[in-house]
Amino acid sequence: MMINAAFNMTIDGRPENSSDQIAVVNPATEAVVATIPDCSQVQLDRAVAAARAAFPGWRATSYADRQAALRAIGALVAEHAEELKQLLTAEQGKPHAAALAEIQAAAWWIGVVADQQLPETVSDAMPGQRSVTRHVPLGVVGAIVPWNFPVLLAIWKIGPALLTGNTMVLKPSPFTPLATLRLGELLQSVLPPGVLNIVSGGDALGPMMSEHGDIDKISFTGSTATGRRVMASAAANLKRLTLELGGNDAAIVLPDAKVADIAEPLFWAAFTNSGQVCVAAKRMFVHDSIYDELSAALVEIAGRVRIGDGADPDSALGPVQNRAQYERVKAMIADSRDAGHRFLTGGEPGEGPGYFVPVTLVDNPPDEARVVAEEAFGPVLPLLRYHDIDEAVARANASEYGLGGSVWSSDPDAAAEVAARLETGTVWINSAQGLTPFAAFAGHKQSGIGAENGMDGLLEFTVPQTIHHPA
Ligand code: NAD
Repeated sequence: MMINAAFNMTIDGRPENSSDQIAVVNPATEAVVATIPDCSQVQLDRAVAAARAAFPGWRATSYADRQAALRAIGALVAEHAEELKQLLTAEQGKPHAAALAEIQAAAWWIGVVADQQLPETVSDAMPGQRSVTRHVPLGVVGAIVPWNFPVLLAIWKIGPALLTGNTMVLKPSPFTPLATLRLGELLQSVLPPGVLNIVSGGDALGPMMSEHGDIDKISFTGSTATGRRVMASAAANLKRLTLELGGNDAAIVLPDAKVADIAEPLFWAAFTNSGQVCVAAKRMFVHDSIYDELSAALVEIAGRVRIGDGADPDSALGPVQNRAQYERVKAMIADSRDAGHRFLTGGEPGEGPGYFVPVTLVDNPPDEARVVAEEAFGPVLPLLRYHDIDEAVARANASEYGLGGSVWSSDPDAAAEVAARLETGTVWINSAQGLTPFAAFAGHKQSGIGAENGMDGLLEFTVPQTIHHPA
């Protein structure tokens, strides 16, 4: 069913549409639910020019005023949570409860970011001068967001970019633009025109942004392949970059872990949001001594988790978000079947309508198998036997990715020793996926450059400026 609303971009504080439209599909039904404007180069240029024109005024506002603006954004998101939830489920596929949780997390998150203060460093070490280093805004930030957590990941960029005095042009994924476009319209009531511009478009728009000569920084979340392209095109005007990219997180289960305690959280570590989480557990290394018991427990949980349309209150998991990703996940399952891997559960994607894939557990495939070596980004998980911990750590680290990981044990100190050996930006002990506004989230290796969240994340939207005063 079509959503009865027009979806506009927001450029210089005003709604803008286009004669070129892109269809947005509900992944649970494959029905077109809305169309959105396909931003032209001229419109993008105007959005960037509006952000540039708004920059001197916005950076000159007091820090306290910008903190108040962030809190007002949080309040607006919370106030419109119900409406945004409906849009998010219709475009993304996730169940209503998960959509609401994402929106509420976004509302809370930006309020926490509002409380952050930028540091100032003073040095008297050089005789005859006092050096004061503070952190000033970069200018116009281009923000590019993926389709798995469209609202939360947009807020992760909007909060720190605006707090530090930058202005923005933000682009949602063409697969999940609706809640973000609506958000852009809502936020104009608390921001001066041009401070936050939202544009929507197809495959051409992201490159138009990363190549744009008047954007000073790109804050990008998406796949490693796209991140490489963004980095290459950003060279033209030496754009600053924050890249939050793909991952292939290992969960390492030590032999002393109690299966009854960890099976449920381990299941959700892998399958929350139908596996479409950058920090989902994507390779599960289980000690030989508890492998059979844990795999049986995971199969039992899979049997009682209902997958369906996110608008149905009984659905705990929704579909894969878009057709291309659905085909990719199906190809990965087919590759495992062709290679003779055993499925402990699942392995038979539905024929549609809807991009539904059952929870699929693959029994101890070799590390070279696609399902292990590649990021599935869907509800497919390989369980991998190991015998000694050095072997498990080496196999976990044998990846171009370095985003997250987790270690599971009855002895948190022993787990912490293993955690420190993982070559990733985040490691959880006896949990997974929990990210906070209070701590840095950074990808090692090809999982990214820079950080989001915490003080590290805030500073990514600034550049140091040192003023040397006479002593
Ligand atoms: P994607 O790279 O296909 O797209 C991400 C965004 O980039 C979209 O808005 C897209 O329109 C845009 N884009 C596409 N081509 C572009 C180009 N050449 N230049 C600039 N922008 C371009 O990623 P996706 O499929 O939307 O998201 C899934 C991926 O994102 C997974 O790999 C996942 O691990 C990763 N991800 C990472 C994090 C993180 O914080 N590290 C969080 C969520 C998702």
